[in-house]
Amino acid sequence: MTRTDQLTDVRSSPRRTVLISGASVAGPALAFWLNRHGYAVTVVEKAPSLRGGGYPIDVRGTALEVVRRMGILPRLRDAHIDLRRLTFLDPGGDEVTSLHPHAVTGGVAGRDLEVRRGDLTDALHTAVRDDVEFLFDDSVDTLDQTDHGVDVTFHGGGSRTFDMVFGADGMHSRTREMLFGPEEQFHRYLGYCFAVFTMRNTFGLSHETVMWNSPGRAAALYAVGDGDEVHAFLNFARPTPPLAAFRDPRAQRDLVSEVFAGAGWEVPGMLAALREAEDLFFDGVSQIRMPRWSSGRVALVGDAAYAPSFLTGQGTSLALVGAYMLAGCLADRDHVAGFAAYEHDTREFVTANQGLVGRGGATLFPTTARALERRNDRLRSLSAMPPAEGRPAHTALTLPDLPRPA
Ligand SMILES: Cc1cc2nc3c(=O)[nH]c(=O)nc-3n(C[C@H](O)[C@H](O)[C@H](O)COP(=O)(O)OP(=O)(O)OC[C@H]3O[C@@H](n4cnc5c(N)ncnc54)[C@H](O)[C@@H]3O)c2cc1C
Repeated sequence: MTRTDQLTDVRSSPRRTVLISGASVAGPALAFWLNRHGYAVTVVEKAPSLRGGGYPIDVRGTALEVVRRMGILPRLRDAHIDLRRLTFLDPGGDEVTSLHPHAVTGGVAGRDLEVRRGDLTDALHTAVRDDVEFLFDDSVDTLDQTDHGVDVTFHGGGSRTFDMVFGADGMHSRTREMLFGPEEQFHRYLGYCFAVFTMRNTFGLSHETVMWNSPGRAAALYAVGDGDEVHAFLNFARPTPPLAAFRDPRAQRDLVSEVFAGAGWEVPGMLAALREAEDLFFDGVSQIRMPRWSSGRVALVGDAAYAPSFLTGQGTSLALVGAYMLAGCLADRDHVAGFAAYEHDTREFVTANQGLVGRGGATLFPTTARALERRNDRLRSLSAMPPAEGRPAHTALTLPDLPRPA
């Protein structure tokens, strides 16, 4: 079949139906673009409603063009956090240096965006909610692929058949597990764990981050505004992943308290707040690396397929760009040709961004006193001004123009 025959064939068929699992970043972005291309889209999300949560995330490089084409760039510009200062402290709590955050992250002032995660998910959801079916408080129980579709049973009861199913359900994706087996095969643990939670801003911090380091330990306070809340972040080196703690919030609190016992600066107060925190998020610092992102009529997008870890600051941008590319590849093709094109056209960008770890990534969290001294020397020598250009990986893909909607 020629490309023109295939196009005519695909577009003359009845409206194709798809199910997307996950309503955070990748899910609603994919829903937006697939709806644009004429698909009937359903999104299933296990949380009872759109998850808020305000830790800051970045939208950079190529991903800025995705949100511009979605029409939500002005809204995100209004929500830009504009962190103005990143101050590093030594183990005794004395200042090492104070920089513009972009000097460390490679972001570009006036162009790249940093927004509260909840502001981004809300903007994405608002852009699609009138055109797409959302099923909150539910999830996929089983997936059964046949020649003509994917039979899905839902945890909340009922079953439906879709032409395709997409896993946008994050780093610990259940869709991936159902399709490819246990996560361990694809999970690349980077040697650190972290805990984030909110606590009262009793520090007078405003639009800034302060990070305390000792070898193998980092504690940071992010004040995304002038408000009375800060995001507390505790990151520590751990050569092997503490598997039992991942499933047990009490064990997480105990482990973090044990690791940070005796630490200086504001850490004792942070540990006290950790005990009370209702929004604790604890995980290993990891990437997902897979040789393939699809199988049959099911494909993965965002962290589910290629989580790059927060060390790269590129998880959100990869999710946005991946969603755009995947939908674009399915605009005028069936799932076989479309999924092949998605992998072919997107993998280099993903690999470049996952490769940012190591180059300014984990080196922010040295594990020995010597390495910490070297890092501090390097930070002191950085210009306090943000760079004029971002990292090449951030813009390593030029978005194709999408085929016109059917
Ligand atoms: C503490 C922290 C800091 C970060 N900082 C940054 C940063 O500075 N910059 C940056 O770019 N990125 C950052 N990230 C990463 C960023 O949040 C993710 O890369 C990005 O959100 C990926 O989006 P996603 O939609 O693929 O997955 P996720 O945001 O993980 O969303 C997955 C969604 O699927 C849902 N779900 C899960 N399982 C199921 C199921 N079985 N059925 C139905 N729904 C399900 C979840 O509830 C969730 O809504 C950070 C992440 C964390 C945790």
